[in-house]
Amino acid sequence: MLEVVNPANETVITRLEADQKQAVSQKFAAAKVAQQVWRAVPYAERVRVVERFRKLLAECSEESAQILTSEVGKPLAQARNEVNGTLARIDFFLSETSARLRDQVVQHDAATGMTERISQEPLGVIANISAWNYPYFVGSNVFIPALLTGNAVLYKPSEFATLTGRHIEKLWHDAGLPSGLFQCLVGGGEVGGWLLDQPVEGVFFTGSYATGKKIIEKVAGRMVRVQLELGGKDPVYIRPDVNVKVAAESTADGAFYNAGQSCCAVERIYVHQDIYDQFVEHFVAFTRTLKSGNPTEEGVYFGPLARKAQLSVLEEQVRDAVKKGAKLLLGGERQAGKGAYFPATVLTNVDHTMAVMREESFGPVIGIQKVRDDAEALQLMNDTEYGLTAGVYTRDAATATSLMNQLNAGSVYWNCCDRVSPRLPWSGRGHSGVGSTLSILGIDAFLKPKAWHLRLPS
Ligand code: NAD
Repeated sequence: MLEVVNPANETVITRLEADQKQAVSQKFAAAKVAQQVWRAVPYAERVRVVERFRKLLAECSEESAQILTSEVGKPLAQARNEVNGTLARIDFFLSETSARLRDQVVQHDAATGMTERISQEPLGVIANISAWNYPYFVGSNVFIPALLTGNAVLYKPSEFATLTGRHIEKLWHDAGLPSGLFQCLVGGGEVGGWLLDQPVEGVFFTGSYATGKKIIEKVAGRMVRVQLELGGKDPVYIRPDVNVKVAAESTADGAFYNAGQSCCAVERIYVHQDIYDQFVEHFVAFTRTLKSGNPTEEGVYFGPLARKAQLSVLEEQVRDAVKKGAKLLLGGERQAGKGAYFPATVLTNVDHTMAVMREESFGPVIGIQKVRDDAEALQLMNDTEYGLTAGVYTRDAATATSLMNQLNAGSVYWNCCDRVSPRLPWSGRGHSGVGSTLSILGIDAFLKPKAWHLRLPS
């Protein structure tokens, strides 16, 4: 049985029967049969089903947000943002996918009667193993383009977001998606492993580097498409020419939105020495205004963490930093009482000997480090095993461009942070993963090309 716990008050919401190994095989077999039919269904019909899904999600957006908040502790306003943002992503895929499916004649030679053409085919049945922190976003980045391009999806939501996974499955059913094409698997890592034991034709994973490494090792010999969207230790650099208050507030939001439980949350801040004290003052003052409490209450910015075990990870990072000379300005240890609450935590005088500047925190903990100049900032920003996003705050467009060109990250930001767009590819480097979702690359990811060499009979 899988116990679903509300992290805000630690009560058990429900107990669900987890899928057993045999059930996973049966779901795969059903998906395989359904996909053979679905791949031949005209694209316009596939669009109609996705449009119905979108309509249903829009109609029950409030209920969807409430389910999400109940199991992951995300403040309701942020859960609503996620559900509504998912509608925009669906719109992007609906507008761009047909062009990616079109056959392309790349050469026609009348003299020899030779034509060269590229067509696209779906991968087949894909495994979509997902994280809990943005289950609508990271789920829909995969299952919307996958279904539109003719694949079947076995969706294994995180054990911390199972109610949302089941809710999404129900919406697909109500939208009239033929049975077998989208099935939710209930359970934790073991069930994810059983899913990977099936002969799936694509593996699309969102989660931690530690799990991503296990997954890529497990499927390495199979020669199937694998994409991994993993963690980050995302830096921003604040140059001295900025409006300091605006930059401090923007980066505090980037660090603390969703209690810092975002793959692209700001996790390291480097500030030029000329404005360091001023920046820290504004950062702390703004952070103090962010309200913590019951995530269902309006106006609450910080809910509990989704996973209680993370409280100890954060406390250990703070202990390690303080032992090595960091100054703790705010927070630092779990809040007493029920619920996995950790206060906004700000550390200064940090350096790269400390875990807080090297290992993903995935919580409301931030280190702010003073730097001499652009060169030192750039060296420190790139001093990481991860490479998801990195940002520069400055008025100077030329310097920003030069720094962004040298940053080893899949996404770079100028005067913004913690931002994802459906039109731009979302991809990591190093321990942040391989492959891209979103953008047209995130549609092509679900297709395999076929090259046609056609000579007219002589
Ligand atoms: P996780 O790695 O603990 O779990 C992710 C998923 O993998 C879950 O569904 C889990 O049940 C499953 N799993 C665990 N062990 C498995 C195994 N051996 N075989 C198959 N499946 C297994 O990660 P999490 O705690 O759910 O998510 C947080 C992590 O995800 C953070 O590191 C965060 O940065 C990352 N993340 C990345 C992105 C991105 O787009 N790059 C987006 C969201 C989250």
